[in-house]
Amino acid sequence: MPSSAHPRGQAIADAAARVIPGGVNSSTRYIGAPYSFASAEGAYVVDADGNRYLDYHAAFGAILLGHNAAVVNDAVRATIGGIDLVGLGVTEGEVALAERVVEIIPSAESMIATMSGSEAVAQAIRLARGVTGRDLVVKFQGGFHGWSDAVARNVISAPDKAYGSDPLSSGILPQALDSTLIAEFNDLDSVTALFDQYPDRVAAVIMEPIPHNVGALLPTTEFVSGLRKLTEVNDALLIFDEVITGLRHSLGGYQEVIGITPDLTTFGKGLANGYASGGVAGRRDLMEHFNGRTGDVLLAGTFNGNPIGCAAALATIGYLQEHPDFYERTFALGDRMRTGLTEIVTELDIEATALGFGGVFVLYFTKPPILGYRDLMRNNDEAYVAFHRGMTERGFLMLPMALKRNHISGAHTAEDVDRTLDAARDVLVELR
Ligand code: PLP
Repeated sequence: MPSSAHPRGQAIADAAARVIPGGVNSSTRYIGAPYSFASAEGAYVVDADGNRYLDYHAAFGAILLGHNAAVVNDAVRATIGGIDLVGLGVTEGEVALAERVVEIIPSAESMIATMSGSEAVAQAIRLARGVTGRDLVVKFQGGFHGWSDAVARNVISAPDKAYGSDPLSSGILPQALDSTLIAEFNDLDSVTALFDQYPDRVAAVIMEPIPHNVGALLPTTEFVSGLRKLTEVNDALLIFDEVITGLRHSLGGYQEVIGITPDLTTFGKGLANGYASGGVAGRRDLMEHFNGRTGDVLLAGTFNGNPIGCAAALATIGYLQEHPDFYERTFALGDRMRTGLTEIVTELDIEATALGFGGVFVLYFTKPPILGYRDLMRNNDEAYVAFHRGMTERGFLMLPMALKRNHISGAHTAEDVDRTLDAARDVLVELR
């Protein structure tokens, strides 16, 4: 069990508060306690006071194979000291990454490389508007697609704000808010109604194929195939935001799992196992609008396709291609976790539901069925906060926000999962 005293973490947090607004560099990193992390290895991270934690947070899912995966670090080390950044032409690494993505992602005919998921989504939305000449974008309540103006809204919304205007930030132009429409996940009628209300104005529907930003709403095949048809009939684009699901659930992304191809796909997070990388892939005729000589959609970014990100992404994909058992292992561990949690809450008679897909799991504090965001509004967030606190105190790192998911990486073991279940039982007994 980690020590409850964090003198070094406290000193770092105090120093951070003096020079970094709020003391963290991304608002969702705040965990309300003086934790500062100093090193990471495999499935574990160590804080500045030397306490070791089993990590299911996994940098919001950016860690896929495990922390400091040797195969990725070796590729990065081999890059350092060669080309750092030139900013003219193209490097072999960029070509190799695009070739590899085209090879593995069913809908990818070409690819651009960005530095992050938010940049990828911003580019994809601009492309959709540029190609269609239309202004509106449909997103789902509960979906998160990064910080850009078109999409930074309606993620975990209070019941009085859900489905209405719920921006994540001030400073977003009202026109940007008016240009994004909110639908309900797994409810095709809610999307059809928007197409009917705004004929010839919807440029794209963007979705996380599994909205992991509110845990794991599992899409029905009818819903996704319905969206595919609806967008085609209405000449709008379908964008899968696979920033979390890409590589994690299958080498070919969730589109490979469900067998439905979007027009565009965005990537980030696990693509480079903790190094900064992202991208957009899709139909060649659409992607050609990014062509700087013949196209009409701006593609710019000093660090786009940077050598380290490309090397790390190539090494991550290469590892997964050579070790397809990654999926069997993480899926089996995910099932073990979900089954174990279900047994515990059933035995303790706690109103909670363990859900997820593959190596991703979530414990909702509400009863099934859980299909859309509407069902999540019954979640007992306070119970989750107490559960999270208890798990952190026992040395298990999970996402601090109720409704978010947790990640089993390639470095977790069955023994790790069993220890987690033992700790979860202790915490839940206390909460009962
Ligand atoms: N899309 C999804 C599905 C995400 O979960 C996130 C980040 O959480 C983003 C996009 C934004 O990615 P980034 O944080 O790399 O900008």
